[in-house]
Amino acid sequence: MLRDRALLEFLYGTGARISEATGLDVDDLDHLARDPAVLLTGKGGRQRYVPVGRYAVKALDAYLVRGRPALAAGGGRRPSPAVFLNARGGRLTRQGAWGILREAAIRSGNSGASPHTLRHSFATHLLDGGADIRVVQELLGHASVATTQVYTHVSKERLRAVYGVPLMKPHGHPIAELILTVLSQSTNDRNRDVAYLRLRDRFPTWEAVRDAPLAQVEEAIRPGGISKVKSARIQAILRAISDDRSEIGRRDSGRELSLDWLPHVPLAQARDYLCSLPGVGRKTAACVLLFSFGLREVPVDTHVSRVGMRLHLLRPGAPFRELHDEMLALTLAGEELELHVNLLRHGRRTCHSRAPACRRCALARMCPSRALFA
Ligand code: SF4
Repeated sequence: MLRDRALLEFLYGTGARISEATGLDVDDLDHLARDPAVLLTGKGGRQRYVPVGRYAVKALDAYLVRGRPALAAGGGRRPSPAVFLNARGGRLTRQGAWGILREAAIRSGNSGASPHTLRHSFATHLLDGGADIRVVQELLGHASVATTQVYTHVSKERLRAVYGVPLMKPHGHPIAELILTVLSQSTNDRNRDVAYLRLRDRFPTWEAVRDAPLAQVEEAIRPGGISKVKSARIQAILRAISDDRSEIGRRDSGRELSLDWLPHVPLAQARDYLCSLPGVGRKTAACVLLFSFGLREVPVDTHVSRVGMRLHLLRPGAPFRELHDEMLALTLAGEELELHVNLLRHGRRTCHSRAPACRRCALARMCPSRALFA
């Protein structure tokens, strides 16, 4: 039937919610021949212009010319202004539209499809074709990009196909993670690990590292580079953790060093506390919370931010705090570790800083930046 086809093409071609399609009036389509876009009225009366695809325009034309007049005739003297009409000439209801879709889904052998399936396909195929996630957010009428986060799922699936699923479990050693992150600054993983192992080998406890002469700590971590700065920072952090005057640090008994209480306070409080330690920023705090306890954080380092900006997930030049907030908003709960690790791998192995390997990139089809490196 012409109406059913027009409805299905419209839902897929615009990403409209079913209530937005059934709420559409013929007057809203007046300009369609010269400007293939439609004004949709979404939740809370918010309006947005959405381009209408070629197939949807064709299907609408056929229905308006050859299908709708017959349905409208059943409406008697007071014709409905609605685009989509039921058999009695009245506005098609939400339930009626659901029924049309359900029947089409059964006929196609995909009985689980819903109106949201078409909306989801619309967004996924746009992203697949290189559309910016912010544009997709606007087309879908989402107030916040966080609502569009389900579509970062597409990139996650592709990265997973290339880099696999990271299997690391939270290790439960927050101080070790903190010190490891300090040692990783301006060096490679191998030198960081050598410095860390020498430090652990020479000092049996973190208290011993805190109370040792600075020169001994510096000597222990020398293979990790800039050891003068890092040794002073490590001791400053350890002293701050054991500082009884710290509001939250009071949870530690006496001067014993422990951050095991972090998962037992609200996440924002744990994050703020870590960021209050000397030289500790948002990325380090995120590493401690995610890798030690599996808490909801996504560390954004140089690789993750570069890939995120090229995919237009993150705003170029945004400060670290914003980058972390945005990345978190775009990440589905439970996918933090995988997204972080695979974006990092992608940045290191494919989306290099100077010469990204776009030709063999699994995300090329959905990357708005690929043309810059062609
Ligand atoms: S297409 Fe190129 S720029 Fe885009 S994510 Fe892939 S490697 Fe990076």
